[in-house]
Amino acid sequence: MNITVTKAPASRRAQANLDNPAFGEIFSDHMFLMNYRDGGWGAATLIPYGPLPMLPSMSALHYGQIVFEGLKAFRQKNGAVALFRPQKFYERFARSCRRLAIPAVSREQFIGAVKAVVREDAAWVPQKQGHSLYLRPFVFASESFLGVRASRAYTFMVIASPVGNYYKEGVKPVRLTTSLAYIRAAKGGLGDVKTPANYAASLLAAEEAREQGFAQVIWLDAIERRYLEEVGAMNIFCVIGGELITPPLEGTILPGVTRDSVLALAKAWGIAAVERRIAIDELYDARQKGTLREVFGSGTAAVISPVGEIRHGDTTLTVNGGAIGPLAQRLYDAITGIQYGEAADTFGWMEKVE
Ligand SMILES: *Cc1c(COP(=O)(O)O)cnc(C)c1O
Repeated sequence: MNITVTKAPASRRAQANLDNPAFGEIFSDHMFLMNYRDGGWGAATLIPYGPLPMLPSMSALHYGQIVFEGLKAFRQKNGAVALFRPQKFYERFARSCRRLAIPAVSREQFIGAVKAVVREDAAWVPQKQGHSLYLRPFVFASESFLGVRASRAYTFMVIASPVGNYYKEGVKPVRLTTSLAYIRAAKGGLGDVKTPANYAASLLAAEEAREQGFAQVIWLDAIERRYLEEVGAMNIFCVIGGELITPPLEGTILPGVTRDSVLALAKAWGIAAVERRIAIDELYDARQKGTLREVFGSGTAAVISPVGEIRHGDTTLTVNGGAIGPLAQRLYDAITGIQYGEAADTFGWMEKVE
């Protein structure tokens, strides 16, 4: 891909407070931008990070035809920079675009754009342990038109944000509550694609949970309000007896790349890893029998997020005495080990940016 580069007049990096930046607070010097007009993608450009010109009638603002991704670049032990599973993120991006009636960029354009930003802003890929450069590719309907139909113009962009250690004070299990008033997704809807509508639908529930002292919501299925779906914007795993269990991808759950990595590692370690529905009452039963070992979430931002406590209706369930479990810890260490080039990349997950 041919990319026209317009360099930022000066880097903002020296002025940025990079001690331990919170998620999505600071942005690097450059961004990728490419427009879709008249039935095709136009010139690929790398330009200084900054405001976008747009009209108030821009379609995405009104009807939400938007898709995004989130992946990370890591500084390797030997100083090189590598992306974690970018091909897998592209495949999900293309699937999400199809569902939102957005013309997808090609694999070459997606990977090329991500790498171009990382290469240009390589100085923004942190050296510190536990830090990384978060990449946010996204596409939105950029036609100025209020009629209800798929837009005829789109803009594809990639921005980059250096992020600090998710667990500043060590991995701490969180308290969660199920939501009986709201649902996240129903079959046939948008639950299995990465689009802002899912987040918009979840924010009020998350806010109410926070007001009641919980970190996030455990989403139950839309029909019976009984089966576990996701935890916040993460996939969910339970360890019951000797089994690692996660809900199956049946249309309401986001197919997480971290989820896929957890399943691959568990299988390689000879752990029984199964994809099947888990009823919330099954957790209580397992607790009763003493077989409930661990519950944790998985996602790009935190990698693994252990759950210490679950409130469901009038009852509360404590998991593993409120501490991180051994499998969650082992998975966290294994995945981050591969990401930072400290462990052998036996699955071929890392892709170098040269
Ligand atoms: C992005 C996302 C995940 C996690 O996916 P990863 O590929 O592991 O980062 C899980 N659930 C939702 C709703 C998401 O948007």
